[in-house]
Amino acid sequence: MVKSKPTEHAPADAPAYTVVARRYRPQQFSELIGQEHVAGALVNALKSGRVAHAYLFTGARGVGKTSAARILAKALNCLKTDKATPTPCDECDSCRAVMTGDDVDVLEIDGASNNKVEEVRDLRQNVGFRPARGRYKIYIIDEVHMLSTSAFNALLKTLEEPPEHVKFILATTEVQKIPITILSRCQRFDFAHVGPGKIFEQLKRIVEREGHQADDDALRLVARRAAGSMRDSQSLLDQLLASSSGPLTAEQVTAVLGTAGDDRVIELAKAILANDPKTALDRIAEWVERGLQIGELIDQVVEYWRALMLVSCGGPDVRELPVSPNQHEAIRTQAKAVSLDTVLAGLEILTATKARMRGTPHVQVLLEMAVVRLCRLPDLRSLSQLVQAVSQPGVQFVASAASNGTPPPARPQLTPNAAQVSEAAKKNGPLVTAGRASENGSTNAPTEVAATPLSEATVQTVWDRFFRYATEKYPILSQHLRYASSYAIFGPNALAVRFPTSYANAKKECEGEASLARFQDALKRVTGQPVSIRFELDRSPNAQPLAGPQSVSVAAPTERKRSLGSLPMFKKAHEVFGAQIWHVDDDFNPAAVHKPAAPKIDDEEEEETATEEV
Ligand SMILES: [Zn+2]
Repeated sequence: MVKSKPTEHAPADAPAYTVVARRYRPQQFSELIGQEHVAGALVNALKSGRVAHAYLFTGARGVGKTSAARILAKALNCLKTDKATPTPCDECDSCRAVMTGDDVDVLEIDGASNNKVEEVRDLRQNVGFRPARGRYKIYIIDEVHMLSTSAFNALLKTLEEPPEHVKFILATTEVQKIPITILSRCQRFDFAHVGPGKIFEQLKRIVEREGHQADDDALRLVARRAAGSMRDSQSLLDQLLASSSGPLTAEQVTAVLGTAGDDRVIELAKAILANDPKTALDRIAEWVERGLQIGELIDQVVEYWRALMLVSCGGPDVRELPVSPNQHEAIRTQAKAVSLDTVLAGLEILTATKARMRGTPHVQVLLEMAVVRLCRLPDLRSLSQLVQAVSQPGVQFVASAASNGTPPPARPQLTPNAAQVSEAAKKNGPLVTAGRASENGSTNAPTEVAATPLSEATVQTVWDRFFRYATEKYPILSQHLRYASSYAIFGPNALAVRFPTSYANAKKECEGEASLARFQDALKRVTGQPVSIRFELDRSPNAQPLAGPQSVSVAAPTERKRSLGSLPMFKKAHEVFGAQIWHVDDDFNPAAVHKPAAPKIDDEEEEETATEEV
């Protein structure tokens, strides 16, 4: 067996090759990297002679739990001193036997393979015997959470009344699976993830001692990839050193790991933050073809976004960024250009995607979906500005003037101050700002409210708002609108307005080219989309001008019956089927056939209030 002291290791090419992780296993409390809090507490307990009967070491894999357990066992049984010592000699028979796992008094049990109750019963019987050589009989139970319930119960009996000469050291990666009855009888130590900086330093030491050469960037990559596990980092280093002839480079590491190089991740982030899904998807497809592992890439993007978050919160002087130093500058620049809310929303998408990737073969699709969604994330800066601006006086919600004919987004846009229009908002479409001089030179600008797309359900609301808007903006021209008798939708985004035959002049005024343009502009403001308007004569004998908004005249039932009789649809029905009018519903208004049953009074009032505040 090769001696484990780092200074006396065998060369890497010796016939009896021992893996790095084993040769560099810590042998003293002072060598427990990243677990100084545990080492310090155990040293104090040993110095003061207050060593507990049972310890529970918890923490992720490869962080030093078993190593700490063995060091503690050596410390308790070292033969060089006449009592337990915080610095075992590593030379006496006891210390050397513990190191190799062959000691008669230090029994290592693997919970995963010895989970049957019989084995724990054997343990209970053996506990009664005194140690053969050392001061204590020490049981190290690794992966203790794997024990069955009955095995736990058997173990509990021993833990309740352990003989003076027995010590238990339990180790687990899943402390939540340990029964509370066991937990309460152990002194618990939580082992931390080892920081990438500490792992890097240790890897550098190992490479030097092994007589190899490696770029710092390469070792940093290995250190980050190990995700807090010292043992994993050393196993990886072993693999890399074995497969490379010359000095180890970052390129070699990324090739072996199937990860993307620093530049590639920066490139992907750039495309995403520029809302450019095409470039982002092209790059991913290209890299996957060259052997990039999707699982690795999502990890790297998550870390990158985490770094963006850290810089967004803590400024450029964040202590330890989870990414390569080559990426620091890009991250600092990008963090300035994107809001923290956007970064957080992106992290949500990325971490959820990573979780979904477990157990599905469609990892590439998931990554691509995530990237497209990241590209489509609106800049949430406008949201936080909204919150800020709402508390300021003079805030006004305006219609989004979409020009492509599709309904505008429900999200209202905001004009805190004409001078403070955010870049993000600019991207989303033109803003209608308050205080713009009207076409007629009037200083009283028309009031603008959220857009209402034209539909059968909204035609009355649209008409009322259109009427109000047009009257405010084009007071003289709009006088003519007052004589209209009815209005209706005659096609998609097409409004027909009728005038009684006695007001044919008013219809004529409205039909002029300039007038039509103004009315269409007003309708676009109100509905958020282009709407065509047509003026017609209402030949029904009862046609009367509408007095204004919300006052559509409702004729008496007998009159309505008469006017219904003149509708072409009814005439045809009468002709073909001999139809008669028996009853006219109160809500039915032949003047506006498409009118909704009842206007939404509440909405109207709310908007009125909002309008008046301006
Ligand atoms: Zn010793």
